[in-house]
Amino acid sequence: MRLSRLFTRTTKNVPADETARNAQLLIQAGYIHKEMAGVYAYMPLGLKVLENIKGIVREEMNNIGGQEVLMTTLQPRDIWEKTDRWDEKKVDNWFKTKLANGTELGVGLTHEEPIVDASGNYVNSYKDLPYYVYQIGNKFRNELRAKSGLLRGREFLMKDMYSLARSQEEHEQMYEKAIEAYHRVYDRLGVGDRTYRTYADGGIFTTRFSDEFQTLSDVGEDKIFVDEAKQVAINEEIMTDENLAKLGLNRDDLVEKRGVEVGNTFHLESKYTDALDVYYTNEQGERRSIIMGCYGIGVSRLMGVVAELFSDDKGLVWPEEIAPAKVYLVRIGGDEAVRHADELYEELKSKGVEVLYDDRDARPGEKFADSELMGIPYRVTVSDRLIESEKYEFTTRKTGETSELTRSDLFAKL
Ligand code: ATP
Ligand code: MG
Repeated sequence: MRLSRLFTRTTKNVPADETARNAQLLIQAGYIHKEMAGVYAYMPLGLKVLENIKGIVREEMNNIGGQEVLMTTLQPRDIWEKTDRWDEKKVDNWFKTKLANGTELGVGLTHEEPIVDASGNYVNSYKDLPYYVYQIGNKFRNELRAKSGLLRGREFLMKDMYSLARSQEEHEQMYEKAIEAYHRVYDRLGVGDRTYRTYADGGIFTTRFSDEFQTLSDVGEDKIFVDEAKQVAINEEIMTDENLAKLGLNRDDLVEKRGVEVGNTFHLESKYTDALDVYYTNEQGERRSIIMGCYGIGVSRLMGVVAELFSDDKGLVWPEEIAPAKVYLVRIGGDEAVRHADELYEELKSKGVEVLYDDRDARPGEKFADSELMGIPYRVTVSDRLIESEKYEFTTRKTGETSELTRSDLFAKL
């Protein structure tokens, strides 16, 4: 991508209506556009980051056998009444709308009901189970407060997966396998070492705990207590002596921290499948309940978390795996520099290296500042002076380390 063609622009002005660092930086760098509080559009470079995160999540869900679908945003009332989740006294953050004829519709905030309802068309016998089904799509929630940028949206991107199993034992295995996949997702996003499996409230339908995945951050809304040695944590909301005993945790081993919930997995037992009348028949021809799990990851929230955690006073610092480009190519000087930089740009592209080419007629300082604000992992500078010595300047965004490399060293690095 040539920066001269990119329709978004960076700005030095910190948006006055944003208090969250992730939103400030992402708006300043031209990655997202704010429509209203809690509702953000993704511009070309922002969409690339989001797609990269989606790609990692998708790969890891596919690796454990997840089958991808796309459920609908518009939801019929009747299936939600069967599980008693239509009533606003039960679920208070619905957006709802109406058809022209007055029929009420829900705007999808999660998708257990439609997934189970659709599964009812296909599941009959024990041979049809088990499976994981997942989607990556927008969710809509009428959140009370939306001041944290991508961390709390009213419209946001979630990956939600559901497992349907024939027995409790089969469910437990699927559940733990999904948790392992979750850890791999957080590792690949660079937040694995500060993301803890955290015991939390199990939701309205079970007495068991759920597992939250909490990424340590000062901006986190949740208070959690971490057991470093065991690499787990417990959410303050369930922190009682009785629960600590149940979980085999010792109050003295726990350290209080703040976390952002980047995922949450639940044991649903057979509450949804029973309520929506979806059963299977076992080998003896007897009708049996289907045991479910559900597994959410906040995809857009994770983009906000990474932006927030990996940034400095100059701007964003994307981990290589999700950066919108690997290299920010700066060109300084006249015709000779243009020719050299154009050539390098084409060659890097042909080798599959993603390059953001700053081919604008701007001052060097402006180009360097933009490369830092945008957080591209490596900056390569072509200038008249360097051409003479047949070198390229190579700067690593994370460390600020700069060196002059020969052509072959540059290509070896990239
Ligand atoms: P929270 O407690 O933060 O409101 P939740 O427990 O209601 O979240 P879940 O229903 O567990 O959220 O959704 C699964 C995941 O989706 C969460 O772990 C989180 O990462 C993400 N998520 C939930 N609500 C939002 C939101 N408003 N904006 C962005 N991501 C969200
Ligand atoms: Mg949750």
